[in-house]
Amino acid sequence: MKTALIIGGSRGIGRKIALRLAKDGYDIVATCRKDISALAPLETDARNLGRNFNGLVFDIQDRKAAADALTGFFGENSPDIFIYNAGISRDNLMVFMTPEEWDDVVHTNLDGFYNTIHPLLFQMIARKSGRIIVIASASGQVGQPGQVNYSASKAALIGVVKALAKEVGKKGILVNAVAPGFIETDMTAGIPMDKILPMIPLKRAGSPEEVAGVVSFLCGSDSTYIHGQVIAINGGLVI
Ligand code: NDP
Repeated sequence: MKTALIIGGSRGIGRKIALRLAKDGYDIVATCRKDISALAPLETDARNLGRNFNGLVFDIQDRKAAADALTGFFGENSPDIFIYNAGISRDNLMVFMTPEEWDDVVHTNLDGFYNTIHPLLFQMIARKSGRIIVIASASGQVGQPGQVNYSASKAALIGVVKALAKEVGKKGILVNAVAPGFIETDMTAGIPMDKILPMIPLKRAGSPEEVAGVVSFLCGSDSTYIHGQVIAINGGLVI
């Protein structure tokens, strides 16, 4: 049985990606930040689909905790699919942005990628197969006022995907990003829809399931020549 690791699988987009990949036939390993019980509903859903499930708890900002948890679980093995979904926003105009708002976003969204892929990448390269999919953002493609920290971290992840794709493609590992626009989750709960909808040609927010479907495609057998790309999922917000 193949295994998908979802970094940040407890809520929102990550949870729906994990569920979709469980439906696709993968055993699931999902992570969250603090409380293992946050993964309980996903575990129930995955097991009801007949899949194996394991949950890991660590803060992705904590390099040692991430390495300990991931190498402790995978040992000499590696996941077939690595989904880097965890991320946060701490919005503020740059002129007012605190050092904590800057650091928290960059250390989570960007450093967290290094902290979670690095303990596993050697084994993925050694087995010469795998998929790495990063959840970036439309904000990283075009920049968003009030989100300089977040846009920077997501643009950096797009750079990560392009560079890493050039390193590991010859090892049989496909690396891609998806860039969601406005998706209804906890992260966007406080954002006034009346300000956002006029900017979206489809005149609605996206659902986590609509992101999960594209990720499923990128994990499957119909996407084997897609590499180093950023697939936008935004209802036309960025064209
Ligand atoms: P949520 O806030 O609903 O979920 C965030 C997930 O990331 C949770 O599983 C959370 O774990 C985990 N996480 C956050 N910080 C850490 C940390 N320090 N250590 C470990 N885990 C952490 O977010 P969304 O589902 O909305 O977003 C998922 C991804 O999609 C993010 O990368 C986001 O930037 C991106 N995105 C979202 C968009 C949207 O409109 N919603 C648009 C574009 C991109 P826990 O439950 O334990 O806190």
